Amino acid sequence: MTSTGSLIPLDVAQSFVLDRIEPLSPIALPLLNSSGLVLAVDIESHEDIPPFKNTASDGYAVRAKDTTGASKMNPVLLKVIATIAAGDSIDPTLEPGTAVRIMTGAPVPLSADSIVMVEDTAPYDDQPSMVQVFKQASPGDSIREAGSDISTGQVVLLAGTVLNPAAIGVLASLGYKKVPVYPRPKVGVISTGSELIDTGGISKGMIRDSNRPSLIEAVNKSGFEAIDLGIVPDDAGQLEEAFTKAARKCDAIITSGGVSVGDFDLTKEVLAKLSEGGMRWMQVAIKPAKPFAFGKIAGTPLFGLPGNPVSALVSFELFARPAIRKLMNYPSPYKTLLNATLQDDVARRKDGKVHFLRAVCNSVNGELQATLKLGQKSHMLSQMASANALLVVPDGNGFQAGAKLPVILLDQ
Ligand code: AMP
Ligand code: MG
Repeated sequence: MTSTGSLIPLDVAQSFVLDRIEPLSPIALPLLNSSGLVLAVDIESHEDIPPFKNTASDGYAVRAKDTTGASKMNPVLLKVIATIAAGDSIDPTLEPGTAVRIMTGAPVPLSADSIVMVEDTAPYDDQPSMVQVFKQASPGDSIREAGSDISTGQVVLLAGTVLNPAAIGVLASLGYKKVPVYPRPKVGVISTGSELIDTGGISKGMIRDSNRPSLIEAVNKSGFEAIDLGIVPDDAGQLEEAFTKAARKCDAIITSGGVSVGDFDLTKEVLAKLSEGGMRWMQVAIKPAKPFAFGKIAGTPLFGLPGNPVSALVSFELFARPAIRKLMNYPSPYKTLLNATLQDDVARRKDGKVHFLRAVCNSVNGELQATLKLGQKSHMLSQMASANALLVVPDGNGFQAGAKLPVILLDQ
């Protein structure tokens, strides 16, 4: 797979990259820094959750048999002997004909077997020590048994689970402060090109660097940690220094620019040298984002994305994002494709490539509908800014409105 000029099918190019990616080594990270990361071990509970029998409602803890026959017309009168709030640890003993006022989450007295909800009770005249009960209770009513969510010895989360907010909460409830996970990859982002400046006024021939900010955003939004490594001009010494440093401090490197066939050969020469000949220059059978380079520098994967701003983002989506998700040991590195109904005709000619068109997808009466953006050229970033999907158009002579085609949703 060298730069022979022949087009490489997308799936072959994607597999080439994924096959060369190994997950990073797991580490223990603070729980609150672990959102979206993949759990590295099974989590077995050494405790019951809830840890004690408690009430699911505000009301009165009772012995169910003391409420036999209770109704609105025929209330049962019970004597209130204590009040238990959440956080209390008292355990009053209920004698026949008594009740304990109790708040949600408070421990249920051992001698009570049910809770009457406060809505099914009323004070009795002006006697705060008595309560009227309007509903017969059954044992277990409004009671959350110890271990009813998680029991001691249960494997509650499996290795490979992506930690979502609920999983973080489960780990917190089991007392975890740190959790063994595959780390969040540090992804260095570099823009290459002597025509690039950061901000300020532009002189003739110069443009502002838009790839680095948009790729940094794409990296962070994907749940990785972006490291801004700046602009590097087309200069062999500076490129070599920048790539070498990046490989040392990052888990992956994303560059943009300098990978096309007609490019100034400097970036290629430098990457070829640093990768010890391991860099692969591909012409992938897609539009946009045909040129793509992949290799490793001192073991660190480097994704060489094309310089055109739309191409850079499409290439990130198709190659870099899935591969970096594999570094995190994600169970499925690729996004799930959805089918959307075309609202417009899609005109194209057979050219051996899959086209990725910027589109807006909306769900209308349960159907996903795709409307194309007007500007589809690879430098028209403004049209991508208001798109939320890439429409995947297979090779051929186009499709008519009403056809269904796969889409990659960008906002996920
Ligand atoms: P290249 O891939 O280096 O041949 O660049 C292709 C096109 O993308 C050229 O018009 C470049 O000026 C433009 N380009 C390259 N890098 C950037 C960047 N970081 N931001 C905006 N445009 C870029
Ligand atoms: Mg360039």
